[in-house]
Amino acid sequence: ATTFAGQKVALFGLGGSGLATIRSLLAGGADVLAWDDNAGSRDRARDQGITVTDLREADWSGFSALVLAPGVPLTHPEPHWTVPLARAAGIAIIGDIEIYCRERAALAPEAPFVAITGTNGKSTTTALTAHLLRHAGRDVQMGGNIGTAILSLQPPAPNRVHVIELSSFQIDLTPSLAPSIGILLNLTPDHLDRHGTMENYAAIKERLIAGAELAVVGVDDAYCAAIAERRTGERVRIHVEGHGAAAGDVVCSAGTVRGADGAVIAQVSGIASLLGDHNLQNAAAAVAAARRLGLTADEIAAGLQSFPGLAHRMEPLRRIGPVRFVNDSKATNADSTEKALLAFRDIHWIVGGKAKEGGIAPLAPLFDRVAHAYLIGASSDAFAATLEGRLPFTRCETLEAATAAAAEAARASGTEAPVVLLSPACASYDQFPNFEVRGDRFRALVAALPEPG
Ligand code: ADP
Repeated sequence: ATTFAGQKVALFGLGGSGLATIRSLLAGGADVLAWDDNAGSRDRARDQGITVTDLREADWSGFSALVLAPGVPLTHPEPHWTVPLARAAGIAIIGDIEIYCRERAALAPEAPFVAITGTNGKSTTTALTAHLLRHAGRDVQMGGNIGTAILSLQPPAPNRVHVIELSSFQIDLTPSLAPSIGILLNLTPDHLDRHGTMENYAAIKERLIAGAELAVVGVDDAYCAAIAERRTGERVRIHVEGHGAAAGDVVCSAGTVRGADGAVIAQVSGIASLLGDHNLQNAAAAVAAARRLGLTADEIAAGLQSFPGLAHRMEPLRRIGPVRFVNDSKATNADSTEKALLAFRDIHWIVGGKAKEGGIAPLAPLFDRVAHAYLIGASSDAFAATLEGRLPFTRCETLEAATAAAAEAARASGTEAPVVLLSPACASYDQFPNFEVRGDRFRALVAALPEPG
């Protein structure tokens, strides 16, 4: 990025996006002084030839900006120590997305830029939007909060679409955010530890669409409905029937996306990677962006059909006889697992790990969809107590034992379409480094199951 050529920039946070930012700024002729509170991160950066300097001792009057990593608190519970130093020096506090936005404004202000946020569904919608465009032959760069850091992508160009997932933290550090299409999917209480109040969190998310040429907003929760109502510029409101009462310009029901006049825009039913009502919201948003960028109905239909889905999010793995195996390892709380239980019946449910507050008690209304539960991990005592007398269960301790038991019981059940579902409703840290490793392990275990012989 050349927007800081010849200038001195302070950067705090030497994670993946921080390192990409430094490389980009240095290549663009800026002078970067970088620091991290974590000694290991500093050593890694030094190993890569980056100048690491304690910013507490730096001369802040010479800096043009402070670039913060998205995880670093700007306000809540208290600002990181770099924040008052930057404020006292009167310099902007920004993130890597802001550098991209300035670069785009300078290089290719008309370059299509789709920015996507929301409490849930960001990654699915981002991946699907990018897939639809790529499948139709467009030059697409995807990244941000998903995958590649934005400054490691190819730079903005007139015929290149950037599809970028943004967290509220990243929006907070991007004062010039003005995408061609801004998608805000939904808002539910989350990250309030960082943003303080729901009002503050919603206000940050609203900024993503405030600066957008076209705003695509899911209106099925009260916060987003109010935000769509306030919007004066062009907007597409997405409503999924049965969820909230706000009117939509696009209305989804029974796997079909329709315009307000009832005309069919796209069919989502039967697409294995987009099961469930929540994915109807995600698909409708991605389709709205694709239409705006000129894709035909045929191109969109073909793209939807070939969407592989994201790993670990209701990922279909395999079918053995009538038994389907589904990996939903990303479901680390009851809210997410609710979506998975709603999508199936006759479920052999592998559940447990490091439990969140409330455990699986909120899922009780869906227990009639479950044939049997297989408990793993540290939550076993608590979940056994919740299930006792309501649902048959087996304490399996490990994912290995649970997968074997669930596969055998589903096979032997003789029912029409049983599903073995890993949807733990828990963090993985008691048994795995992260949810990806947990899901990869499950995938490997399922792959190793014998064909019926
Ligand atoms: P994010 O990137 O926002 O975390 P993902 O696309 O990775 O979202 O989906 C994570 C989980 O969130 C999914 O497994 C599903 O349980 C739930 N989810 C996805 N889309 C939605 C939606 N539109 N509304 C509510 N929940 C959703």
